[in-house]
Amino acid sequence: MSISENIKHIHSQIPENVTLIAVSKTKPTEMLLEAYEAGQRHFGENYVQELVDKEAQLPKDIHWHFIGHLQSNKVKYIAPFVYLIHGVDSFSLLKEINKQAQKNNRVIDCLLQIYIAQEETKFGLDFKEALDILNSTEFKELKNIAIKGFMAMASNTEKEVQIRAEFKSLKEFSKQFPNYSVLSFGMSGDYLLAIEEGSTMIRVGSSIFGERNYTK
Ligand SMILES: *Cc1c(COP(=O)(O)O)cnc(C)c1O
Repeated sequence: MSISENIKHIHSQIPENVTLIAVSKTKPTEMLLEAYEAGQRHFGENYVQELVDKEAQLPKDIHWHFIGHLQSNKVKYIAPFVYLIHGVDSFSLLKEINKQAQKNNRVIDCLLQIYIAQEETKFGLDFKEALDILNSTEFKELKNIAIKGFMAMASNTEKEVQIRAEFKSLKEFSKQFPNYSVLSFGMSGDYLLAIEEGSTMIRVGSSIFGERNYTK
């Protein structure tokens, strides 16, 4: 199927209140344009340089989501235009985003990345660390960031029961913060299940653009 057919197909499966982010890392701008022409406006990228290059080349009404692991020293490159930063996993990163947002005279929307997987390799805060940040006075002093919700990745497993339990744990946690209503979880392999468990934002790459090739 073509990119536009893939996007149509996914939209036919998901409720209207769920935002579909087309994850376009490693894919050439022509493919992003094809998705754009099919009406897609939310794109997700993992690498700062790649995001900056694509932003410069593509239409200005695209909402760019940064979904990768963000290093503090690179925030400045995306601060002028980024729409939502998903992977915030420390207070120091939040502080740097606030600083760069201030320089650009704007408020940058962020999601705290929460560690829900039973694996050692994923980034993110545990629930206690997230609570400590959100309840701290230092956090309340940051005027140029706005927390919109939470992002997470489930374990890389076929076990549906486990993936569901991980998503459920985040949904439960988020209920303490009704104002932080965005929940970003679910990818190509599990987005339908993720929506059943409360996701409001799915990040879908290979089901739209095909498999990624990292070897070139
Ligand atoms: C690459 C990536 C995705 C998309 O993965 P697919 O399985 O191709 O849909 C989603 N979220 C994050 C954080 C990613 O790095």
